[in-house]
This record gives sequence, C-alpha cells and structure tokens, in this order.
Amino acid sequence: MNKIAPQPGIMDIALYQGGAAHVAGVADVVKLSSNENPFGPSPQAVAAVQAAAARMHRYPSSDHGDLRAAIGAAHGLEPERVICGAGSDEIITFLCQAYAGPGDEVLHTEHGFGMYRICAQAAGATPVEVRERERVTDIDALIAGCNERTKLVFIANPNNPTGTMIGAEEVARLADSIPPQAILVLDGAYAEYVEGFDGGAAQVAARENVVMTRTFSKLYGLGGLRVGWAYGPKAIIDVLNRVRGPFNLSTAAIDGARAALADVDYTKWCRAENARWRDWLAAALAEVGVPSDRSCANFILARFASQAEAEACDDYLQSQGLIVRRVSGYNLPSALRITIGDEPACRRVAAAVANFK
Ligand code: PMP
Repeated sequence: MNKIAPQPGIMDIALYQGGAAHVAGVADVVKLSSNENPFGPSPQAVAAVQAAAARMHRYPSSDHGDLRAAIGAAHGLEPERVICGAGSDEIITFLCQAYAGPGDEVLHTEHGFGMYRICAQAAGATPVEVRERERVTDIDALIAGCNERTKLVFIANPNNPTGTMIGAEEVARLADSIPPQAILVLDGAYAEYVEGFDGGAAQVAARENVVMTRTFSKLYGLGGLRVGWAYGPKAIIDVLNRVRGPFNLSTAAIDGARAALADVDYTKWCRAENARWRDWLAAALAEVGVPSDRSCANFILARFASQAEAEACDDYLQSQGLIVRRVSGYNLPSALRITIGDEPACRRVAAAVANFK
C-alpha cells in the first residue's frame, strides 16, 4: 500500500514546468510560466557542461567540495556550512525528510511556494497554511501559527508568486519568536535579483535555527541542470548530509554551476536587464488597468478584476503564443504570474494584455 495518498499538486507543477512550450498554430511561442532566465546560462557554464561530458563515465564528486568552496568564496560563507542539492527542491525535500514526520507541522504562507506543502506531505507531516497580509508575508500570523508540533517554517524572500519582500528586521523577529524545536527556512530562490541582498545569510550566521536555501535555476539560468544549495548551522547541515544520496549532483551540474558563478559580468547584466523590463512591463500593464505589487524578482503578479477575467486573459495570451502561469493553486485565482522575458517578449505581453483589455 502507498505510504502517502496521491498528490495532484505534483502533477499540476509538472504540467506547467516541463519541456518546451507548444501552442497549436502559433510559430513563435514564448514560455513565461516558470521564472526562468530568458537569456539562458552564461556561455562559460555551457562550455563547462560540454567539457564535463568527457568525464561522464566517472562518478561525480560526492561532497561537491569545489562547488561549495566556490559558493563560499562568492558569498563570504564557510563551505563546511553549505550543502548542495539537485535544485533547491531537493534541499526542501531533505529538510522535510530529516525534520518533519507524522504528528509534526510544517508552516508555510498562504501564497507560498507549492513544494513546501508537497514535501511536508511526502514526509508524513501536516502542512499548515498561514494567511498573508495583502500578498506580503505576515510575521505575526506565522508566529501565531506556531505551536509545540511545529518543526519547520518556510518563507520565500522575495516570495513566489507575489514577488514581494520583507525586511531583515521582520525576518529576525520571526527567527527570534518561533519555538525552540522549529527551524526557520529562508528560501532565497530569487535573492540574486535583489542587488546587495544576502538572502538571509546574516540571519543564519547569527542563529542555530535558521537555514537559507538558494538556487542556480533562476538568475544563473540553469533550471535544467538542477543545482541548489543551502547554508545553515553545522549541526543541521550534518543532518541533511545524512539524508542526501552520495552522488546527488552530476559532474556536469557541479562544473556548470561553478562556471556560472564565476561569470559575474553576465549575471550582473541579466539582473539589470530583468529589473529594467520588469519595471517597464509592470508600468505598461498598470496603464491598461492591470496592477501588480512591486516585484523584487523575475516575474510580476498581474491582478485582474475577477477569476473569469484572469482566465480569459490567460486564454487570449495563450492564443498569441504567450504562456504565463495561472496561480489559483496559490489562493490567487484572479491573478496571473508572468515571468519577465527579454525585451521583445515583454513588448508582446504588454501589447497582448492591452488588446485583451
Ligand atoms: N523556491 C522557490 C520560491 C521557487 O520559486 C522555486 C522554483 N520555482 C524553487 C524554490 C525551486 O527551484 P529549484 O529546485 O529549481 O532550485
């Protein structure tokens, strides 16, 4: 018998994220539904992945020492407090497997990333959804949601799918207020889009109960390679390494991520391009009556008058070859999440939404 009930949520995600986008009868389809970097990875990362092919008969490094050293150097962190995973999804899985089980509760926010719930359920724990305030993480509600069964508290900062952010003082207040048996997980999947933001690393360094997760899937453009990492107290990283398989990252993934990290000019350029066209698109949509909250990430949450209008707009965008994301599964039925593409893609989205309106 299955240990856990089938989870339709996993299938929903697979439908949106997998493979290339295809719309019958439209030649030029743009996928703006998975918050990927429209410019792709650094050419140096591509070269490193190609070079790694010559070594594919050998098992990869099991401790990812070179990659952890590179991450440590780039972010000013101790490599022995870093763990790498096949995407930050795998790190979220490790955290739930290691720290949450039957009878335990895993807190996440109302409009929070779906994997928190899925991984908590897969570990046999109970996911608990906490409301947000106007699409912003509500620290007081999270504190009030904690009890003696709470084992993990997940927040993404910036948050997906809202794009909103909370400040370091708020995060510190949360970290100081959760019960002693609970771990606060700061998901920094979009932290690289915020210039000068450490993703919460300072909060981790100052405490024994805070972990930060990061990814190479977004700004670094390596979603298909599957590389994520976490920084945390040594005791927690040691536990996570015990649930990690010995060869969870391929040689190509390790080498590609290292090369991507080294190409600072490229990521700087991608960050600037994203900010420019994100703010441009938000303003263009606002002008035709489609507002969004100020986004700190590589997507915007476009808000419509009703679920019917959001879905009709989604259908229209799709007919124009523009694939965006419905977010009713995130308690946001009258919104669409639109990943920031390159300039032509942003101009196409703005024109199509204006036409629809
Ligand atoms: N956290 C958040 C908030 C995300 O949006 C995503 C990807 N959509 C992830 C984690 C997981 O990303 P990956 O497994 O590719 O690192």
